[in-house]
Amino acid sequence: MPETYVVAGANLAGGTAAATLRGDGFEGRVVLVGEEPVAPYERPPLSKEFLRGEAPFEKALIRPPDFWDANQIECRFGSRVARIDVGSRQAILDDGEAIRYDKVLVATGLRNRTLGVPGAHLGGVHTLRTVADAEAIRAHAAGATRAVVVGMGFIGAEVAASLRLCGLEVVAVEPLPAPCYRALGPQIGAVVAAIHADHGVKMHLGESVDAFEGGDRVERVVTGSGMRIDCDVVVVGVGASPVTDLLEDEGVHLENGIVVDEHCRTNIDGVYAAGDVANHLHPLVGHHIRVEHWQNAMKQGAAAAKAMLGSTEPYDEVHWFWSDQYDANIQSAGHVSDWANPVIRGDLESRSFVAFYLRDGWIEGAVALNRGRDLRRCIALMKSKAVVDPAKLADPDTDVRSALATV
Ligand SMILES: Cc1cc2nc3c(=O)[nH]c(=O)nc-3n(C[C@H](O)[C@H](O)[C@H](O)COP(=O)(O)OP(=O)(O)OC[C@H]3O[C@@H](n4cnc5c(N)ncnc54)[C@H](O)[C@@H]3O)c2cc1C
Repeated sequence: MPETYVVAGANLAGGTAAATLRGDGFEGRVVLVGEEPVAPYERPPLSKEFLRGEAPFEKALIRPPDFWDANQIECRFGSRVARIDVGSRQAILDDGEAIRYDKVLVATGLRNRTLGVPGAHLGGVHTLRTVADAEAIRAHAAGATRAVVVGMGFIGAEVAASLRLCGLEVVAVEPLPAPCYRALGPQIGAVVAAIHADHGVKMHLGESVDAFEGGDRVERVVTGSGMRIDCDVVVVGVGASPVTDLLEDEGVHLENGIVVDEHCRTNIDGVYAAGDVANHLHPLVGHHIRVEHWQNAMKQGAAAAKAMLGSTEPYDEVHWFWSDQYDANIQSAGHVSDWANPVIRGDLESRSFVAFYLRDGWIEGAVALNRGRDLRRCIALMKSKAVVDPAKLADPDTDVRSALATV
């Protein structure tokens, strides 16, 4: 029998991992199993150009359609790994097929949370994760005039922007004090709130949802404070949970996802994890961290494949993500532990700035609005934890790469 590597979860992390196994010369069997009935694709367009009908699905595929066959990657799209039996080293599919593996990578991503309130099952109440979800929202939005977005995290905020750009009236209900509050902090969250307000989104911040009402289809949203908001379509974006059921009771350490070391290895020999589902011991951050970012899924998927092939390089990328809302491009890098007193390059009013968050003199995290180049340029400084000069960081005429403090 050839050596067999199974990848459970066939999207960005899993697909990239399978491609990397082949790209790096693995000659054994590679089996890529994915619950969705389509080849691996990028999710970011689902809340942006794909939702607005501006780009076809094919543009989102991570590899050309013939790539998988051409690279002898056995694809089981539309198949779920029901269980991984780590004792007998078998991946058991939902149709009962058992695939014996030498190593397995779990890249099963996330499952959307839903709101456990009356009416959550009504037609027209959506969540967004897959291309099928995006198609359903698009179909409902096409005949609608009024949308409610519940939850203004990144996905909710991007959907609100896209639906506004498609001409719908949009009302947003968000329990926290600002959109994208957890990821961007209060100060920049307020800037994002102002951008949505300028585009006509009516926002109810600090507000929750108690019920959805209607016949077969949703007709109104009832909030915690008793407001009744009429609508034709609802998109709920209230977060997601890691998909770990296939490893339950197998002795794999599960805590906020699948716990892995800096090489994407779990505590069980031959079992690896990567992408949104992986709670990774990040050498730079100094503790386990699980993120839900495109860049991490792609790069960590590749790193996990290399680790399966024997690489001893730890995965230590500085985390980075972006979000597009209207013409606002938001980028963020690193991890901010304290949102107080950022060093600002540019200015918040003009909506072109980078906010740098320092810790012990080095840049722990940064958030940019319409100034992504400056942010990307400081990533090497973040990785080296070099002590920087705040005055140089703030000075728009100084290249951020030369913002090192002089000693
Ligand atoms: C609408 C949307 C917009 C986004 N926009 C951005 C953005 O602008 N910027 C950014 O940085 N990030 C963005 N992201 C996040 C980014 O897309 C994710 O971080 C990335 O897709 C994670 O990849 P993954 O492969 O780890 O997980 P996923 O993409 O979730 O893929 C996991 C796959 O595993 C499958 N699966 C689950 N269980 C099983 C099983 N038991 N057996 C077989 N298959 C299984 C799932 O069906 C799924 O296809 C966005 C995400 C969404 C949903």
